[in-house]
Amino acid sequence: MDKYTILKKYFGYDQFREGQETLIDAILEGRDVLGIMPTGAGKSICYQVPALLFSGITIVISPLISLMKDQVQSLNQAGIHAAYINSSLTENQILKALSLAAAGQYKIIYVAPERLETYEFLEFAKRAELSMVTVDEAHCISQWGQDFRPSYLKIVEFIQKLPKRPVISAFTATATQAVKEDIVCVLGLDHPKVLVTGFDRKNLYFSVETPRKKDIWVMDYVKTHERESGIIYCATRKNADALYEQLNQSGIPVTQYHAGLGKEARRCNQEDFINDRKPVMVATNAFGMGIDKSNVRYVIHYNMPQSLENYYQEAGRAGRDGEPSECILLYSPQDVMINRFLLENKEENPEFTREEIDTIRERDEERLRMMTYYCVTKNCLREYILHYFGEYNHVACGNCSNCLKEYIEKDITKEAKMIIQCVLQLRQRYGINVVAGTLAGDNRAKLREYHVSDYPCYGSLKEYTEKEIKQMIQHMILECLLVQTKDKYALVKVTPEGRKLLEKERKVMIKTVKEEKKEASKDGSGNRTSSAKKRKSDILNSKGLELFEVLRTLRTELAREEAVPPYLVFSDKTLVDMCVKLPFDREEMMGVSGVGENKFQKYGNRFMDRIKEFTGGEKEKLYFGEQNEM
Ligand code: ADP
Ligand code: ZN
Repeated sequence: MDKYTILKKYFGYDQFREGQETLIDAILEGRDVLGIMPTGAGKSICYQVPALLFSGITIVISPLISLMKDQVQSLNQAGIHAAYINSSLTENQILKALSLAAAGQYKIIYVAPERLETYEFLEFAKRAELSMVTVDEAHCISQWGQDFRPSYLKIVEFIQKLPKRPVISAFTATATQAVKEDIVCVLGLDHPKVLVTGFDRKNLYFSVETPRKKDIWVMDYVKTHERESGIIYCATRKNADALYEQLNQSGIPVTQYHAGLGKEARRCNQEDFINDRKPVMVATNAFGMGIDKSNVRYVIHYNMPQSLENYYQEAGRAGRDGEPSECILLYSPQDVMINRFLLENKEENPEFTREEIDTIRERDEERLRMMTYYCVTKNCLREYILHYFGEYNHVACGNCSNCLKEYIEKDITKEAKMIIQCVLQLRQRYGINVVAGTLAGDNRAKLREYHVSDYPCYGSLKEYTEKEIKQMIQHMILECLLVQTKDKYALVKVTPEGRKLLEKERKVMIKTVKEEKKEASKDGSGNRTSSAKKRKSDILNSKGLELFEVLRTLRTELAREEAVPPYLVFSDKTLVDMCVKLPFDREEMMGVSGVGENKFQKYGNRFMDRIKEFTGGEKEKLYFGEQNEM
């Protein structure tokens, strides 16, 4: 069998995605690889396909117990023999699994890193034919990352103890240079093929909204997205509790997760969510590590997170199946205050020196600032994120709230000069609030205390509100005419570029929202350009959507019978493809994206029966327009 046959037979896919093939080919040639791909890009296939082509066993090292279970279940569903060994098993279960493994029962074995040094595992590994060791979440080996796990260092010792060095493949979604170098170096990868795929997630729609009443906004959104699965992240447990109560009382199938709940409650709630018994989750950032639910259609941030790293990771839990999904951040300026408070009260790690603590604090402040700019920028949000992670493309994406808004450009050169003069007159000693208040000619106690009315610039922009002036200052910071210092006082200072503005002929333009385009409705689902992927309601007509519901119900029944999450039966995408192709026989069913041999045998007939019943055996067109390959 070749790699294409494996992809089709076991996973039901016709094509590899970007990057997958390169890594698979390198592995099959016996080369070490490092794959850096964003969440949802399809890392697993990169080692699972070669694992099935190699004659021996592949060991996958993974830090997350819940993820292992999910992966193994999903492989078993596809008809691949796999097992996991971690602390969730009893000693007896482990011995049994190892003896089956030694007898050649499994092609792929997932293990937690701390298992590697146990006597039993090592004895097994030394005798078995190991073709490959795969290190998942490989950034855990780097001390530079946020997720350093000392147990990952044991991987190196483990590999050294093996009689023959297998191919080593490593995967992560963390892209910084330092982490990348660490992985190659610490793991001792031998001239590896390193592949970094773009961080862009094209199926995700990004949006920042500033509703006056966030809870009402959320309620509305959740109700108009009935039956869809989503996560709502809150900054504090208190917020999460309150929002959960509200949604629950209005009859929404919602559950919750935060560190204040008992272990058992958390486990239960998580299961309810994963199995779609309660498809809406209200949680703090404690939720999500190792959650692999592929059909999450939206992630709403009720509060602004502390950094774009956190934001992109959490928002990225939407749309792992590649279907269009929405990432919406509800911003209010108060969020900045909350986060600053949280940072200031963060516990200091006693192992760090004063200097290190200061560096970390400065870094956190900087991250928070970059996060705040994301919420106020008028430019393409996707471009902003990608730029932050080191990708420069400079094209508006057409699939974010800023790209969908219509802006009027306004010349604020005169105002910008006044702002710069004001900052200079105040000797660059104040933050944005004082500067804006001074320009607006405000008379609050704090400003009187600083005697700002003594300066010539006092009230020089009094035809504007303080909020408008702040927007201009924010914009000037984004344009690098002003900077904020990287300490907690965030003083506003003038850059050399800003000083030049006072002398040179140069224009400063700012965008303000004209009005939202009609199609960009309140729920954020606007008129996407053709580059954006389509939603299921754009693909299927009303009868097609009806069939989709019929198939979804069948999927739930099957999932219950087998006690697996519905998305492990078939993904939403596969169901949509069935509604388009209306398969009536084996060949047609095998042509549906996501239907492999094993799943066909298990479920094929039952789905075909429902489809025949629904259509009366007639091939109707239940979709709009031309259907391209999904
Ligand atoms: P990652 O580990 O990179 O976050 P996964 O390996 O979980 O991503 O894959 C994400 C989703 O993409 C899964 O539902 C997987 O089945 C799907 N997928 C992976 N490769 C392909 C492919 N070549 N064609 C279609 N779907 C794919
Ligand atoms: Zn955009």
